[in-house]
Amino acid sequence: MATYDVIVIGAGPGGYVCAIRCAQLGLKVAVVEGRETLGGTCLNVGCIPSKALLNATHHLHEVHENFEKMGLMGAAPTVDWAKMQAYKQDVVNGNTKGIEFLFKKNKITWLKGWATIPAAGQVQVGDEVHSAKNIVIATGSEPASLPGVTVDETTIVTSTGALTLGKIPASMVVIGAGVIGLEMGSVYARLGTQVTVVEYLDAITPGMDAEVAKAFQKILTKQGFKFILGAAVQGVSVADGKATVTYKLRKDDSESVLEAETVLVATGRKPHTAGLGLEALGVEMLPRGQVKTDHFATNIKGLYAIGDAIVGPMLAHKAEDEGMALAEILAGKAGHVNYGVIPGVVYTTPEVASVGQTEEQLKEAGRAYKVGKFPFMGNARAKAVFQADGFVKILADKATDRILGAHIIGPGAGDLIHEVCVAMEFGASAQDLALTCHAHPTYSEAVREAALACGDGAIHA
Ligand code: FAD
Repeated sequence: MATYDVIVIGAGPGGYVCAIRCAQLGLKVAVVEGRETLGGTCLNVGCIPSKALLNATHHLHEVHENFEKMGLMGAAPTVDWAKMQAYKQDVVNGNTKGIEFLFKKNKITWLKGWATIPAAGQVQVGDEVHSAKNIVIATGSEPASLPGVTVDETTIVTSTGALTLGKIPASMVVIGAGVIGLEMGSVYARLGTQVTVVEYLDAITPGMDAEVAKAFQKILTKQGFKFILGAAVQGVSVADGKATVTYKLRKDDSESVLEAETVLVATGRKPHTAGLGLEALGVEMLPRGQVKTDHFATNIKGLYAIGDAIVGPMLAHKAEDEGMALAEILAGKAGHVNYGVIPGVVYTTPEVASVGQTEEQLKEAGRAYKVGKFPFMGNARAKAVFQADGFVKILADKATDRILGAHIIGPGAGDLIHEVCVAMEFGASAQDLALTCHAHPTYSEAVREAALACGDGAIHA
């Protein structure tokens, strides 16, 4: 029986980052991973393959939409789907192999197989039982199911199946207008698929600042998306390789059907903790299936949990931050995650990014705030690249000017948001951002202008 300071179960962004930091801090670490490759959902079937396909199809979209405008003439490229899939897989392989390299570099043992926890302080993999002072559950999440819908990963797919479709479908119904549904929908819309999104709520991207969500929907509609909002899917049937989606409009209970070659079920994800033996151990769980934790500690001594398996946004960087913080706690340091400053990004074109509070949340909390907004239409760089749709919106405390949130829809939003994240970590005011010199011509100038708009006004608006 091998003994470790820490055994991490799951090699996703939460687990592998936790393991690397534990090793850097001098702890003896092993990671159990049942998948053939490291990196979890994110590297294998999540963030990374989806961004590869978004990248390839973004270029295709650019060719069709903007090349001629810039005097770039010639036949548009055709799509070799098998090659695009191979490119995506190469990107995945490069990243998963990279984690393997980091494990070797940091002397982390990879215990290959599926783990169970037969008793406190013990982890079983196959026939072997290993012991550890600390065990970390980093088992992530899996797609949530929908009553009346049976996923076959061919015609009715989750995001995992949508990443590896045998061919580009002529039509696709996406159930759920969340981030994953819209990103994958974008991939296929750019490849020529007629994409219809059916969403239960009356707006897309639930939880996003409403003004941004509205602008986002408008832009996606211009790109060819169809939206059916306020619609509850009743079921999906498949006959002759075609799917029929039945939905009811919530406003009048009227029932309609939609036909499509592929149906993507993107109604969220749920924590993946089954099969670990948590019930027998007496581990406290939350009603929605997450492991109950207090500063990552469960109710069992020496057993911790992080990432998608616990409460909070199901995001890779949230899992990573928790992994790092927990490693520091296990090494006797003060690990910390600031849940108030976790950015969220949608990697469509344009990108959408947010951090901190939305206007709706501030209103509900009764907080006095001011809004500084700046449209990308006033940003020279955005105009030069035909990406002037969208805006930056900064929310600041009315009395103190402290930044409370930022919401960006526009070019490079996923990168721009981080200057606001850093500002928020430092407790900055909107004026602090506004007084910081920003290089011209950059998209970041739009962030500065929005900060200026919180005070005496933007210059270029
Ligand atoms: P996971 O990454 O899910 O890893 C858990 C690992 O544990 C898995 O590899 C699993 O095989 C292993 N495991 C489970 N049980 C056991 C066991 N008993 N024994 C051994 N191993 C086990 N997030 C972002 O921040 N940005 C994005 O752009 C983004 N895009 C996404 C796109 C898609 C299509 C999807 C599906 C998700 C996306 N996410 C994105 C979410 C992100 O992937 C997750 O939030 C993140 O992977 C969670 O990390 P984790 O370490 O908690 O778990």
